[in-house]
Amino acid sequence: MQEPIVIVGAGQAAASFASRHIALGNRTGLLLIGDEPEPPYQRPPLSKKYMSGELEKERLFIRPEQWYSEQGITTFFGTRVVAIERNRKQVETTNGDTFGYDRLLLCTGSSPRKLPAAIGGDLAGVYTLRNIADVEAMAPEFQPGRKLLIVGGGYIGLEAAAVARKLGLEVTLLEMAERILQRVAAPETSDFFRNLHQGHGVDIRESTQLAGLLEDSGQVVGAELADGEQIQADLVLVGIGATPNSELAEKCGLDCNNGIVVNDICQTSDPNIYAAGDCSNFLRNGQSIRLESVQNAADQGDLIARVLAGEDVRYNALPWFWSDQYDCKLQIAGLNIGYTEIVLRPGTKPGGQSIWYYAKDRLIAVDAMNDPLAYAMGRKIISAGLHPSPQQIADTGVDLKSLAK
Ligand code: FAD
Repeated sequence: MQEPIVIVGAGQAAASFASRHIALGNRTGLLLIGDEPEPPYQRPPLSKKYMSGELEKERLFIRPEQWYSEQGITTFFGTRVVAIERNRKQVETTNGDTFGYDRLLLCTGSSPRKLPAAIGGDLAGVYTLRNIADVEAMAPEFQPGRKLLIVGGGYIGLEAAAVARKLGLEVTLLEMAERILQRVAAPETSDFFRNLHQGHGVDIRESTQLAGLLEDSGQVVGAELADGEQIQADLVLVGIGATPNSELAEKCGLDCNNGIVVNDICQTSDPNIYAAGDCSNFLRNGQSIRLESVQNAADQGDLIARVLAGEDVRYNALPWFWSDQYDCKLQIAGLNIGYTEIVLRPGTKPGGQSIWYYAKDRLIAVDAMNDPLAYAMGRKIISAGLHPSPQQIADTGVDLKSLAK
């Protein structure tokens, strides 16, 4: 009997693979092994509507749990894979069970970076945000008037700040770099979100280094900054980025470099093993990148199912991303890596605007704030490989739709 396709990690990429595999009528059996107790779910609401209590847990799941068994997919949730034996083509789980595979998919995601224990990273009241369990642990602490300290001014920290303000917490946010979102966005986008958060009463401290967290009997009570200032805090959320879950791949000798290295069909250095989502590292326009986004996880999972069904497809999807903070929706199309020029275009509605990124005369990305039309047209223009001039983009008299043709 043919061994099944085994998927390690039951998240966004795994669910996308499984859906496409079933839709294509591929008859090879599927075995899905995930270390969280739940079936695959969407993480974006964890720092948005699930965190604020506006979305029920059931709404997080990508497919209802029974869908997997209805499709003949064998699942082991709450089960961790600890080793891959490539010679025998099998994986081993924590409880010593082994499962043979015909093809193996690594969809293991990424893990949030933690603050070192030496500066208080292990204290009670210090959280990171990746899983349903993290939100459930933190939720009782989100009470009006409590003081939340957020370490890190990336998307997760900023989204959590917005939720916390909405729930009536006092929020201070520390960013070590010169500006929030420095790693991912232009200064103009950082300015937009700094103003937005300051307008909602968040105390944003940029170019600010944390010296260490302060404790009382093992519970965090505040933080000391590098300049000696002390800040009180009842709880701390650490949002300082994530690292790929590539240990399994490294241990069994697959090529890894900031993630599991894959080619344009998401195949690793072992032709029987594929990787998708946050844990994968691939070439885009000759540059080695790793993306942490729903788009990348879903599209890579989908592509692997097509590849295994015999389709001749290559991964070159246009990246897109979004973030919700207060009443602002940020939508991003493309990747701004290597940009040389920025063009700002006011939106058609009050408060809306878009930032367009050029690498010399090539349009490579757009950040649209409360401007869905700019996002939709930007995505279309970039996907089509069109390069309108910066003057055309800046001129609100020019209809974006006319540039997308
Ligand atoms: P995951 O969905 O993380 O799934 C990986 C799974 O594998 C996890 O359950 C993990 O526990 C499990 N696993 C790991 N190792 C093993 C093992 N050895 N054995 C068994 N199981 C294992 N993206 C956007 O595009 N827009 C957003 O607004 C957005 N917001 C986000 C907000 C938050 C709070 C977070 C955490 C992420 C957000 N993202 C957002 C990113 C997006 O959710 C991820 O990029 C996406 O979930 C990645 O999918 P994945 O399948 O690679 O990994």
